[in-house]
Amino acid sequence: MNMEDLKTKLAASERIAVLTGAGISSESGIPTFRGEGGLWETFRAEDLATPEAFARDPAFVWRWYEMRREYCQKAQPNAGHCALARLESSASEVRIFTQNVDGLHQRAGSAAVVELHGNLFTGRCTVCGRIKKGLDSPLAQIPPWCPGCGGLLRPDVLWFGEHYDAAILEEALQFLRRSNVVLIVGTSAAVSVPAQLAQEAMQYGAFSIEVNPQETMLSAWVDCHLSGNAGEVLPKLV
Ligand code: NAD
Ligand code: ZN
Repeated sequence: MNMEDLKTKLAASERIAVLTGAGISSESGIPTFRGEGGLWETFRAEDLATPEAFARDPAFVWRWYEMRREYCQKAQPNAGHCALARLESSASEVRIFTQNVDGLHQRAGSAAVVELHGNLFTGRCTVCGRIKKGLDSPLAQIPPWCPGCGGLLRPDVLWFGEHYDAAILEEALQFLRRSNVVLIVGTSAAVSVPAQLAQEAMQYGAFSIEVNPQETMLSAWVDCHLSGNAGEVLPKLV
């Protein structure tokens, strides 16, 4: 299918599900976890993004998040994020399911964003569960404490070995099953739940488009693989 046909297909779709991963933010200067220059080349995931690491040394983990928050705050949404925000203002019902924690979709103007892995700028109390949004960078204190009960706050992100929120996942599945198109952007699909979400949509008949400069384990299954950067491909598609 050529780009014109794909555009027509998107425009005629009632419901579009978009799955995004770290790749869509790489043109904003935010490193991905895997691949060249990925964060895990310098840091080991198991030292940082796990409940065990946090229990061992909360300040160390918070300092890593502080660094990430700082460069995400400075980063700007790119042409890929903006194209998706424009898609939302079209006739179709569009929902973005992102693995990203950087908040750039919202800053680009997308309203229907489901953050599957949480958000860097939100903290959650390890004692009372209270949610503290809009944590500024730099933090006044590391680690930060709950304004309600004084308990230790943790980043409100999904760590390795943790479970997805069941209600969010169920709602995502419902939407994906009813989608006419699933657009998969900038994810290596190495994390199994997002890959399963994509596959679910395809099994239920969604036309699938992948945007990624590299092949992924989903590439062989999608209807159309568009090889290239999100910031170049998405504006052409939308
Ligand atoms: P990943 O790091 O595993 O894979 C990134 C993918 O993006 C690769 O397939 C790569 O080929 C592709 N890519 C690179 N540049 C691209 C571009 N310009 N356009 C399109 N695709 C491009 O990312 P993932 O699958 O999202 O990994 C999941 C984990 O990484 C999640 O838990 C997520 O929370 C975390 N993460 C998030 C951020 C962020 O919020 N921006 C940054 C790093 C990691
Ligand atoms: Zn608390």
